[in-house]
Amino acid sequence: MEKLSLPLESCIPKLTRAQMRGLPEMRELLILAEHALQSPLQLAKVDVLAQLNYAEESFPLLAFRFGPDDPSLPTFAIFGGFHGLERIGTQVVMSYLRTLLELSRWDRITIEMLTTTRLLLVPIVNPVGMYLQRRSNGNNVDLMRNAPVQAEGLSPWHLFGGHRLTPRLPWYRGKEGAPMELESQAIYEFVKREIFPAKVAISIDVHSGYGTFDRLWFPFAKNRLPLPDLPEVIALKHLLDQVHPNHIYCIEPQSRQYLAHGDLWDYVYDEYRQIQPDGHFIPFTLEMGSWLWVKKNWIQIFSSLGMFNPRLPHRVKRTLRRHLFLFDLLHRAVRSPEPWQGLEPSERERLLQLGLKLWYAKP
Ligand SMILES: [Zn+2]
Repeated sequence: MEKLSLPLESCIPKLTRAQMRGLPEMRELLILAEHALQSPLQLAKVDVLAQLNYAEESFPLLAFRFGPDDPSLPTFAIFGGFHGLERIGTQVVMSYLRTLLELSRWDRITIEMLTTTRLLLVPIVNPVGMYLQRRSNGNNVDLMRNAPVQAEGLSPWHLFGGHRLTPRLPWYRGKEGAPMELESQAIYEFVKREIFPAKVAISIDVHSGYGTFDRLWFPFAKNRLPLPDLPEVIALKHLLDQVHPNHIYCIEPQSRQYLAHGDLWDYVYDEYRQIQPDGHFIPFTLEMGSWLWVKKNWIQIFSSLGMFNPRLPHRVKRTLRRHLFLFDLLHRAVRSPEPWQGLEPSERERLLQLGLKLWYAKP
C-alpha cells in the first residue's frame, strides 16, 4: 500500500489529458485528497490501494481514512464506482466527502466526529471501467460477480446473476479458479485490514441502474437465507424509521430482488463472521432507482450512461443531496451503537422474529 505524501500536486499531473477528459471524477477526487491532506487539522489519511493499468494509462485506487488508526474501533465505510457506468454513485460518495471536508473547516461537531470515529471512503473502485464507460473493469470482469461465491440454485442461463461464458457479455465473473481481479482483491485486503478487527462496523456500497426507487440491500445475494445479523439489521431499520420517518428507502435482503454469484459483500461478510463471531459488520448496498430518471426523461435510454445516471442538472443535484442524511445516520450509528448492537438475548429474539416475518415468510 502506497501512502500519499504532501504535496499532492505531484499526484495531479499524473493524470493524462485523456484521463482528465474521460474521468473528471478522478481529477475531482485528487483535488479533494489534496484539500483533505492540506487541511491544518490533518483529519484524513489517503492511501493508494492499487495502481490500475490499462493500455498506456494508469489510475490510482484511492481510499480516505478519518479517525483513529486503531482498526478495532467502530468503523463506517462508504464505497462507490464498482461499476464504471454508474458514475452517479461515485459522485454521491464524493458529495458526502466534500460536505465533511467543508464542515470540518469550522464545525466543531464534525471535527469531533471525524477525529473520534473511524470513517473510510473509497469513491472510485473501478476507475478503468469508468474511464472506458463500461460496467466491468479493464479485463471485462464484473467486480460484483467476481468473488469466490457460488449462488445457490441459479440457472446458468441467468446471465444477469453472473456467468463464465464470455467476457464479451456483461456480468462476466472471470475465469474459473482465477484469483480475484486487482480491484476486488485491493478492496478485500482493505476491508480485512481496516474493518475486520472492529467488533462494530457498517459499510454502504453505492450503485444505480435497478428499479424505480431507492433500495437499501443487505446480504445475501447468494441465497435466500436470513443473515445471522438479522436482529441488528432490523434494529438499524428502526433507527432509520424513527429518526427519518419520511425516508425514501425500501430496506430488504438483496435476494428479494435477484440472486447473484460472486457478490463481494457476501464474501466479505462470511469471512468477517469467521474472524469475529461475536462482532457485527453489516455491509449495505444502496441501489439507486435509476429507472425513474429514465421514465421522466426517456430520451436518455439511447445513451450508454443514460440507464444508470440522472442527466438533467436539477435531477443530478437532487440525487447528490438525497442520501447525505443516510450516510450521516449510519456514521452516527457506529459512533453510538448501543441501540442496535450488544442487544439482550430476548430483544434479539424479538427482532429476529420481526425480521423473519417481514422479509423471509413464505407468501
Ligand atoms: Zn452497480
